[in-house]
Amino acid sequence: MTIFKAKESNVQTYANSFPTRFTKAQGCWLFDDQGKRYIDFLAGAGALNYGHNHPELKKALIDYITADGVTHGLDMHTDAKANFIARFDEIILRPRHLDYRFQFTGPTGTNAVEAALKLARKVTGRANIVAFTNGFHGVSYGALAATGNQHHRGGAGVPLSGVSRIPYQGYAGIDGLSLFETQLSDRSSGLDKPAAVIVECVQGEGGLNVATPEWLKRLEQICRQHNILLIVDDIQAGCGRTGTFFSFEPSGIKPDLVVLSKSIGGYGLPMSIVLLKPELDQWAPGEHNGTFRGNNHAFVTAAKALDLFWQTNELSQHIDARAKQLNQHLQKQLKLHPELFVNLKGRGLMQGIACQNGDIASAISQACFERGMIIETAGPEGQVVKFFCPLTISEAEMEQGIHHFIEAAAKVAKAQNSHSRKAS
Ligand SMILES: *Cc1c(COP(=O)(O)O)cnc(C)c1O
Repeated sequence: MTIFKAKESNVQTYANSFPTRFTKAQGCWLFDDQGKRYIDFLAGAGALNYGHNHPELKKALIDYITADGVTHGLDMHTDAKANFIARFDEIILRPRHLDYRFQFTGPTGTNAVEAALKLARKVTGRANIVAFTNGFHGVSYGALAATGNQHHRGGAGVPLSGVSRIPYQGYAGIDGLSLFETQLSDRSSGLDKPAAVIVECVQGEGGLNVATPEWLKRLEQICRQHNILLIVDDIQAGCGRTGTFFSFEPSGIKPDLVVLSKSIGGYGLPMSIVLLKPELDQWAPGEHNGTFRGNNHAFVTAAKALDLFWQTNELSQHIDARAKQLNQHLQKQLKLHPELFVNLKGRGLMQGIACQNGDIASAISQACFERGMIIETAGPEGQVVKFFCPLTISEAEMEQGIHHFIEAAAKVAKAQNSHSRKAS
């Protein structure tokens, strides 16, 4: 029995899907203690958009540590923080005509969501928040109330309140925004006027459901008309995952608040921020605090990642090319295996393939692991195989990953065929 089985809590999940002990990681690759290597199509669930241990990010971090740069400083001012804010403003915000203030929260995504929800409630004086079906916003109580998944909600142990839910685009064939609009103007609809709407432009954990630019624009319009704040949770879909730095860029909307985490630190270091329109900055000092607000090491690698990857549109073009490459193969697999697959999901390098059920998706993930590939599932039934490689993946590495997936799908299809032959 391993020390993990003996001592670590049952709450682990990824460790169950990929039962080995990892020793090293570089770029798109993970290495285990058996000398086996795995191509990483999980990428820290989106925390490793630039891969593992990127040499230039690593060098910036080592240089900072070697020079005794401040590691922990609560929310005090440091060179590392000043540089990050300046670079983010110059490279990301100004070219996109966005003006936001930065709130550094505790280092997890869920804490940044808490802060955004609290601020929206404080500024508007309203309690209700509108969130969408299949939305995922984290697992601390406030954020969990906005999360749809029953498995996660069930862990709360208390009623989760303060959130109303409306159908996301494409959900059960319902036009959720028409419903929302009608409810807002019907004084007997039972919907308390919300402080804010929180939305993912592509739902990550919810199964790679995509909102179109038109739908997002309409949502923004409804929010403006009714004086409701719009929060984009770009924790997973942001930092280039869909091809642009922010996932909402193709829609042209300007959210009131944007929440970033996962890959914002660049190197897999914990860091979260809330971007807020200046007029919303009505916080009293320390009103939302935390010991680890602003991780100086993450500021260093975050700023370096912006310098390296976002000063030109090279990475965006690379993401588009790799996304096309992946999509072409997935189209073929969809046609080849109607017994396994239903449809394709997502956009950019946030794509997936929906399987007939969660067992098929899970069997494919397992077969991939045996072949040397780490890939997870998403969606309400875990039915979507989710391709989440580092954005920096090379064309050849993408082929390798796809090759493992094709072999895994063939294996699962064969097992299914022999099973159904026996049954008939
Ligand atoms: C991962 C995620 C969160 C929660 O972030 P944690 O760091 O796990 O707390 C919130 N929203 C979205 C969209 C996420 O993908």
